[in-house]
Amino acid sequence: MSALVKGETGEWEIVIGLEIHAQIIANSKLFSGSATDFGAEPNTQVSMVDAAMPGMLPVLNEKCVEQAVRTGLGLNAEIMRTSIFARKNYFYPDLPQGYQISQFEDPIVGKGVIEIDLPDGTVKEIGITRLHLEQDAGKSVHDQHPKKSFVDLNRSGCALMEIVSEPDIRGPEEAVAYISKIRMILRYLETCNGNMDEGSMRADVNVSVRKPGDELGTRAEIKNVNSLKAVHQAIDFEVERQIELIEDGGEVVQETRLWDPAKNETRSMRSKEEAHDYRYFPDPDLLPLVLEEKYIEDIKATLPELPDQKKHRFMGDYSLNLYDASILIAERSRAEFFETVANDNDAKLAANWVINELLGALNKDEKKLEQSPISAKNLGGLIALISDNTISGKIAKDVFAEMYASGKEANAIVEEKGLKQVTDTGAIEKIVDEVIAENPDNLAKYKNGKVQLLGFFVGQVMKKSQGKANPKMVNDILKGKLD
Ligand code: ADP
Ligand code: MG
Repeated sequence: MSALVKGETGEWEIVIGLEIHAQIIANSKLFSGSATDFGAEPNTQVSMVDAAMPGMLPVLNEKCVEQAVRTGLGLNAEIMRTSIFARKNYFYPDLPQGYQISQFEDPIVGKGVIEIDLPDGTVKEIGITRLHLEQDAGKSVHDQHPKKSFVDLNRSGCALMEIVSEPDIRGPEEAVAYISKIRMILRYLETCNGNMDEGSMRADVNVSVRKPGDELGTRAEIKNVNSLKAVHQAIDFEVERQIELIEDGGEVVQETRLWDPAKNETRSMRSKEEAHDYRYFPDPDLLPLVLEEKYIEDIKATLPELPDQKKHRFMGDYSLNLYDASILIAERSRAEFFETVANDNDAKLAANWVINELLGALNKDEKKLEQSPISAKNLGGLIALISDNTISGKIAKDVFAEMYASGKEANAIVEEKGLKQVTDTGAIEKIVDEVIAENPDNLAKYKNGKVQLLGFFVGQVMKKSQGKANPKMVNDILKGKLD
C-alpha cells in the first residue's frame, strides 16, 4: 500500500503521525537511584520513590537529561533552555503515584527534522514536533495466577523519551522507514537500545485519510505497536477501515484503538468522550529545568557521526552507491568494520566482500557481525591479496570459506595450500603449449575462424593450473600463440 489508495469514490491519501516511546539508556531511573536492567526478578529494582511511598521526593537524574539533549541534537532539533516537568494524573494499578511525571507545554526538545530513506531510493524529510521526558509506568501481570493479577514495579519510574512526529508520513512504508531511522539514530547516539521486542521502543500510530488536497481528516490513534511488521499491518487495516467507513456515509471518530496481531485488526479502546482528563499541572516537587548554552555545546561536541552524515560520506569518499552505503551504515559497528576492511584497499571491492560474502554468510548462520569468525583486519588482508594479484577472485572465495571456518589469516591459508596465483610468464607459456598440443582438433577449428574457442582454451589452461594462473595473462599469451 503506497501513499495513495484507491477507494470506490476515487483516490485517498494516507496521513500518519507517530509518537515513539524510547527507553533511555541510563544506570538508574529518571527520578530515583534504582537500577534499570531488563529481565530482572519482579520488584527487585524498586526504590521508595518508585513505589510512591508518602513523603518521597523525586531527584532528577542528570544522565537522563544529557541523553535527551543528545537525542534532540541527533534529531536536528531545537534544545529548549527551559523546560517544565508536569504531573499527568490518572489511576491505574501499575501507577502507584496516581500520576506520571511528564512534560507537557514546555518539553526539553522542540522542532527538528530527519531524513528517511524510501524503498525506491528516494529521500524524504519528516518533521519532528517535540521530544519530552517522562516516567514509565509499572507492569500488571495477568498470566501467573487464575484469579489474581500481580504488579511488577521494576519499570516504574524508568526514563522514557517520547518523540512526536509531524503528520508528514504518507503510508506504511514511510512509517516503517521513519521508525527504522529513529531507531538507527538512537542506537548511534547510544541513548536507547531500540529493542522493540523488549518494549524499549514502541510506537503510537496516528492514522487518518483524506482526499488529496483536503484538510486533515479525523485520526484514530493505535496504541503501543511494538514491531515494524505490526506497524505496517495496523496501518493497512486502519486505512481500509476508515475509507470503507467514510464511503459508506459514516464518520471516523477520534479514538484510541488497539492492534490485535492474532485477529489482524484494530479495535476501539476508548473514544474521545471517554478520553482521560489528565489534569496536567507543573510538578511542585521539581524546579523548572534550565540548561546553559555551554552545557548544550559540550554535549554537541561529543556527538558521533550520525547515520545520514556517514551515508553521504561513504558515497562521496568511497564512491559507493546509495544502496551499498545504506546497508553499511545501518549499524555503527558495521560501518566501523567496513572502514577497517576498506583501509588501504579498493573500497568498492571491500563493500562487495562485506555485504555479499561476509554479511551473507553470517546471515545464513544467524550470527551477528560481532560474532564473525573473520576479523575486519583479516578480511582486509584477503582483499589486499586480490588487489595485488596474489590470488584470483575465484580462489579468494575458497580462501574466504576457509577463513570463515577456521578463523585463520588469508596469507597463512594461501601459503599453506600453495594457492598463489601464477604470474610467471614462462610457467604459463608452458601450460599453454601443453594445452594447444593436446587439442589439435580445436586448434584447427580456431585457425579456420571459430575464434570463440578461445574461451575453451582459457578454461583448459586455468583447469590445468588448478585455477592459479593469472586469467588476464593466460588470455594474452593464448591469443599471442593462437593468432
Ligand atoms: P495527542 O497529544 O492528543 O496525542 P497531538 O496533537 O500531540 O495529540 O498529536 C499526536 C500525533 O498525532 C502527532 O504525531 C501528530 O503528527 C499526529 N496527528 C495529528 N493530527 C493527525 C491527523 N489528522 N492524521 C494523522 N496524524 C495526526
Ligand atoms: Mg497521543
